[in-house]
Amino acid sequence: MAHVPARLRSFVAARSLESCEYCLVHADYAAFAHEVDHVIARKHGGSTEPDNLAYACAQCNRFKGSDIAAPDPETGAVTPLFHPRTMAWADHFKLDGPRIVPLTATGRATERLLQLNQIDRLLLRKELQAKGRYLFHDDGTLPNRNALLVAALERLTRELEQQAIDREFAAMAEDSEYRELQRAVVQEFDASDWEAWEQGEQVNS
Ligand SMILES: [Zn+2]
Repeated sequence: MAHVPARLRSFVAARSLESCEYCLVHADYAAFAHEVDHVIARKHGGSTEPDNLAYACAQCNRFKGSDIAAPDPETGAVTPLFHPRTMAWADHFKLDGPRIVPLTATGRATERLLQLNQIDRLLLRKELQAKGRYLFHDDGTLPNRNALLVAALERLTRELEQQAIDREFAAMAEDSEYRELQRAVVQEFDASDWEAWEQGEQVNS
């Protein structure tokens, strides 16, 4: 697999709201880690640029391989696969419960090649839908993107807060006045004080 720089990988993941851009399953609920897919494989001249990258679950990515087209099962005509950057998912697919129903030749060719409706994948989506953890609810019409976006922002906020706390602690540890104060406090207590204090703590707790 082609190397994708970490920052680009993060960008691709965030852009998809961390969901596979073919079967729409969120990375948190997939059995294997999601991957960065070259929509047009490098061997067909596809570049490692945002416009040619999509986030894909391991199953979609493996079935797709380096293919860029496949026969439409209805007509047999070789048809371009779904391209998450230039096409809209809802133009080519819809949901019927957990089933991904193709609406176009591209949808049909993609659905078959990527085996989007394998039984284990249907069961996973059914379970996620029941818990409200699939990108679309089971009527297939109501995007759940806002909920995922809010969750992503909350995670980011928590991470930033934690970073700020870590920085404060790091600064305190380097602050000589603070270290001096700490030493003075420790010296004020001798061993028996500590013992008494610890016992007091136990009594109080
Ligand atoms: Zn997928």
